[in-house]
Amino acid sequence: MALELIPYKDEKQDFSATGAKAGALCSTTHVDCHLVIPGTQEVLTLPLQICTKIQELKHALSAKLGYIEHSEISFVVKQGCTYKRLQESDQVMKRMSVHGIKSFRPPRHRYPHPYGIIGAGYNGIKTALFLLRDNQKDFTIFDRYDKVGGHAWLESANKTTRLQIEFATYHIWYGQDFSYPGIEKCGGPPVDWEVWPSRDRVIEHFELCAREYGIYAHCQLSVDVESVDLIGREKKDDRAFQLSCRPVLPHRKDCQGGEKLDHQEQATEAGYAGAFRTDKSRKSFVFTCSCYCIWPGNLINPRQIQYVGEELFDGFIEYGVEMRCDYQNVVGKNVIIHGHGAFTMENIRTCCEYGMKHIYLVCRKRNLTCPRVVSWFINQASPPVTGAHCLNLLKVAYRLCGYDPWDMHSVSCNAARTNASFAQKTRFGIGDVYFLAAAYGLMEVVVDNIKRCSSRTVHLESGRKLQDVDVILKCVGMLPDSTVDKVNKMKFLRGCWINGDPRRFTVSDPDGIYAANFAATTIGPGAYNWVQLMKHVWDCPNEWIQLDEAGHLNLPEHYAGDPDPDTPAYFINARHSVGTMFTYSIVSPAYREMTTHFDTYKHFIAHHCCPVDKLLTAALAEWNEYERSWREKGMVPKDAPYIPYPYTKEYIAEQHEASKEVQRFTSEWRRIVERFGRWIDFDNDYKTMDRSFMERLVDEEIPLTFAPYLLDLIVLSDQVTVEGFCNLLATLLFWGQILLQENSYVLAWTTTPWTLPSNLALCVNPELKYLQVQSKATGTKWIVGKDRWPWICSSIKKNGEKDFTVLWEKKGSELKGIKYEPLFDFFRGKALGSAWQILTDNYVSTEAGTCIVHQAPAFGEDDNRVCLAAGIIQKDGTGMVHPIDDSGCFTKEVPDFLGQHVKAADKDIKEKLKKENKLVFNGTEVHNYPHCWRSDTPLIYRAIPSWFIKVEEAREKLIANNNQTYWVPSFVKEKRFHNWLTEARDWCVSRNRYWGTPIPLWVSSDFEEVVCIGSVAELEQFAGREIKDLHRHFIDDIQIPSQKGKGMLKRVDEVFDCWFESGSMPYGSKHYPFEGKEEFEKSFPAQFIAEGLDQTRGWFYTLMARQGTRVRNSVALHLKMTLAATLCQVLGTHLFDSPPFQNLIVNGLVLAVLCLEFAKRSMDLKRNGLVCNTVRPCKADGKKMSKRLKNYPDPQDLFDLLRQPIARGSRESLKKKSLFFGSSQLKVDRIMKLSACRCAVRRLRTFVV
Ligand SMILES: Cc1cc2nc3c(=O)[nH]c(=O)nc-3n(C[C@H](O)[C@H](O)[C@H](O)COP(=O)(O)OP(=O)(O)OC[C@H]3O[C@@H](n4cnc5c(N)ncnc54)[C@H](O)[C@@H]3O)c2cc1C
Repeated sequence: MALELIPYKDEKQDFSATGAKAGALCSTTHVDCHLVIPGTQEVLTLPLQICTKIQELKHALSAKLGYIEHSEISFVVKQGCTYKRLQESDQVMKRMSVHGIKSFRPPRHRYPHPYGIIGAGYNGIKTALFLLRDNQKDFTIFDRYDKVGGHAWLESANKTTRLQIEFATYHIWYGQDFSYPGIEKCGGPPVDWEVWPSRDRVIEHFELCAREYGIYAHCQLSVDVESVDLIGREKKDDRAFQLSCRPVLPHRKDCQGGEKLDHQEQATEAGYAGAFRTDKSRKSFVFTCSCYCIWPGNLINPRQIQYVGEELFDGFIEYGVEMRCDYQNVVGKNVIIHGHGAFTMENIRTCCEYGMKHIYLVCRKRNLTCPRVVSWFINQASPPVTGAHCLNLLKVAYRLCGYDPWDMHSVSCNAARTNASFAQKTRFGIGDVYFLAAAYGLMEVVVDNIKRCSSRTVHLESGRKLQDVDVILKCVGMLPDSTVDKVNKMKFLRGCWINGDPRRFTVSDPDGIYAANFAATTIGPGAYNWVQLMKHVWDCPNEWIQLDEAGHLNLPEHYAGDPDPDTPAYFINARHSVGTMFTYSIVSPAYREMTTHFDTYKHFIAHHCCPVDKLLTAALAEWNEYERSWREKGMVPKDAPYIPYPYTKEYIAEQHEASKEVQRFTSEWRRIVERFGRWIDFDNDYKTMDRSFMERLVDEEIPLTFAPYLLDLIVLSDQVTVEGFCNLLATLLFWGQILLQENSYVLAWTTTPWTLPSNLALCVNPELKYLQVQSKATGTKWIVGKDRWPWICSSIKKNGEKDFTVLWEKKGSELKGIKYEPLFDFFRGKALGSAWQILTDNYVSTEAGTCIVHQAPAFGEDDNRVCLAAGIIQKDGTGMVHPIDDSGCFTKEVPDFLGQHVKAADKDIKEKLKKENKLVFNGTEVHNYPHCWRSDTPLIYRAIPSWFIKVEEAREKLIANNNQTYWVPSFVKEKRFHNWLTEARDWCVSRNRYWGTPIPLWVSSDFEEVVCIGSVAELEQFAGREIKDLHRHFIDDIQIPSQKGKGMLKRVDEVFDCWFESGSMPYGSKHYPFEGKEEFEKSFPAQFIAEGLDQTRGWFYTLMARQGTRVRNSVALHLKMTLAATLCQVLGTHLFDSPPFQNLIVNGLVLAVLCLEFAKRSMDLKRNGLVCNTVRPCKADGKKMSKRLKNYPDPQDLFDLLRQPIARGSRESLKKKSLFFGSSQLKVDRIMKLSACRCAVRRLRTFVV
């Protein structure tokens, strides 16, 4: 149960308060209030602030119950042995009984007259199902025909017609209230029905449903509703509608071919009103109803076309619909099918089944055709399939015709083909036979216009002549019934409501495809939602009135004559229909709540009734039958190679994955961004996962140099950020190190004992002072940092002056080169001769420890740098000791701790040192330690083989290019960015992950032979197969023969750092240089880029850490930004010796400071199920908003909640009230702008601007 509850404040209060005062009027203490309706079991529990007034509660309850009158509701509490009726100004109590309402469900509005339903087709029967579900039996269905099933199936279809859509998604009792396991009417969900039943079976299923649900008892068949008249005045509560009904005699025939039916003759010009012959045996009558709907259908009249010279043609010409065409005429003949709409598919199929010789499909435009598998995929998909994904699915079948669906006139897409939307005047024709016939050359699509006919010849506008043609089937579309407007006195359609009256509803299967995402290829889901919406408005008329008065019902309107002069007002396109549903679902939470689980159902029922095996078995059987019968009929040579069915179970499984993961987030991202009103050109974007983008990255023309197997430092658990440095209670360890001199030690320290076996050096600061001190008690000498000596003494509980003598004081630089004995013997004789000496570096500070730092170059970034500079290790890894495996456990190089995880080994290592008397102090200190920014677990550094781009060599060029750019703020460019460039280090571009763009290097086992693959085509040559995707699982098995006798070369394991991909954007997004050369050259360098600080998270860490710079957060924010730009610069400089952009603006970040109040309230509401849109718990912690910390409200939820005031009251009253979360400072009228949504996106943009 959902309740729209909006805290309400006294209008005298000051809502403009900001800062600490904001929201102060609203107590944050909540109490669970239990509302009980006396005499019922219903209890509604609400979390309310204790200061909530009864008046406020009344408002909330009224909205929840369909805006019933406030004054009807009262609250009573028990006080001692008496009862008290609470006053408007009283505060709410914990337990109250509610009077004046019967239920917490909205009461259904009662009308004085019954409901009328015109049309006993798909939608009419669906309406009856919904009414009966709610026990609303007072309705009548009228139809001109003597059967249920509607014009579409009783008249437009013919003997050979089959359902193009899977029955699972079409059947009339589709919907969770009617077709669900456990519901037995109509035999339950149709698991045993054919996947694509014939016309007769479809009609049978309508009849079955009408019979089982008792719908026949409500039917007035063979009755023409001639006109509808309004009784009373528009908008008045007591208005009604009079349906003037005339009994008619439908004329139908059972044989295919021959003359038009009587009413078809009559209907040619005027449509069907009055076209049917009157049944004089029955009387005309008037039916009065309070609400009615008309579902007239729109595939009514075949569009008429007359060719010049038609009479000379000398062959068979007929319309390819209704019972007119005798398909015996096509057997063994050359057939022209004129038009490329949904009916074309049926005619191709029928011709192919009858055994024509050849089909010319002549059309002005080649429209998209949908294979069976793709239709099923769309109808089961939740969330909807994106345009790009849909095209990729279609592509598989289109390959058989040698055509790329991406090239269709109806497709708009970005250059990288990652986004697509469709605009096509006709809906999809669905079927596989189209593709098979094209593959065998039995059907040829001829994009042209018919100019004229002569004997057995059709002359096309291009000049081409199609000769020896025997048959022309006209399939140039179906027109709606233009008399519908007249019957209903319809001036316009507002949404789906005739003349904007919420009691008069009409929709017919909208025309065309206008979509970027595909939710269904069939009327099934759409009809379910239309009827639900219509009934909701009938049931809760107050909601309509309130929303309308408040100006929120910005529904699309349609007038006759738009877009063509003969288009009636009732005939809308898909855009209008989607806009209506979308708008209403935004402004009416109650309706939205009803549709919440629809996606889940849609997916479930498709798989339940038509699992993929059933689908594929049926599709394959049909395919094979064509293969067989075409050979048998001689249409295809008997020895022609069999064409395998293009879709497989494995392929479908792959597509499920694709749509689930990446595409899901893609569409989610788009939805959120568009709701925010942020300007992003999604239609022309690119995805780095796309083959074309990835191919750009592997283009061999990029003059990037890979260092031949260098070592880089990387953390075990992936990335870490500055925020990821959390405090850790760490072990602090002093240890004595034997010098060459007897009983003399260097007192070094570490917080990572597990790195001690890998120690190769010690490091002091050359500028700091060091002491040699001698214990008066033992004579032992220690070298220590002078600044830390007092702290050391206090740690080991000694008195520096009394217990020790200072022997000397020296600068750190003077200690350089002092050799010492290794602490452990594991690498004695294995490390380079230069190991185990004192080194100097400025990074050693006086902030912690002893000012003498232990160096393990395999596990510390600074250690690595310092040891590299001193020649203790070399760039190619020589001298490195590295006894830790991939799981963080010791290898056999350190047998004492073999197999122990490093962290577990800490204890044993300290024990061993203690036993050997090398441990001076073991204590704990809280210090900064890198943690994984996702999982919050401590990380360790480890050296791994990596691939670098040589940036150091290009420093000068980078600086010169940077100087050509303009930055806001400028100091970022001139100071930090410039400084960074002057010290730019080689850029490690490899990552050890699974997902990412694989590095295109194939190497021999000794790494001496390295082949860089430069294009997909080159890779395909080696692979001997088509490469559809460049991700690891598609290419890692490919091996390349060595040119140097080194066997087969294998791809290196690594993938590119994702920032390499980001830096490749200017080139990769355009698939340059493979294509888009001109476009690229026009747009490079970019005139302007803007980068958000949060874009550079990974970069910041890896690059900053490599620089050895410790930065504070404030500085880091700017630097993060600059690094993204740098990477772009690096590639730009390497590739074109040019900066990739001219101007740059650094965006800031909004921190999580506004969420606290919001979060508390949303948590309460969520817990009690009071809002249909819940908000995740969150707290304002002042940090950057982060998914891990969950310190922000989900923007989607935020929008949903922002809508709530709209569903509640008039614009004026809302304006005066604060928002649901009082402290946010967002003004109601701005929010109202946001939410009142004729076109949400457009409005949002206006708002944002
Ligand atoms: C050959 C064909 C194949 C199709 N295949 C598919 C498919 O595979 N999948 C799919 O989803 N869709 C398909 N469709 C689309 C089809 O339009 C819908 O599936 C659905 O059947 C339409 O139902 P409807 O109730 O909107 O309209 P209709 O079936 O057209 O019914 C409208 C009814 O209203 C009655 N009516 C109108 N005005 C009056 C009046 N004034 N008085 C009395 N009665 C009146 C008419 O007599 C008619 O029976 C197909 C359509 C055709 C023609």
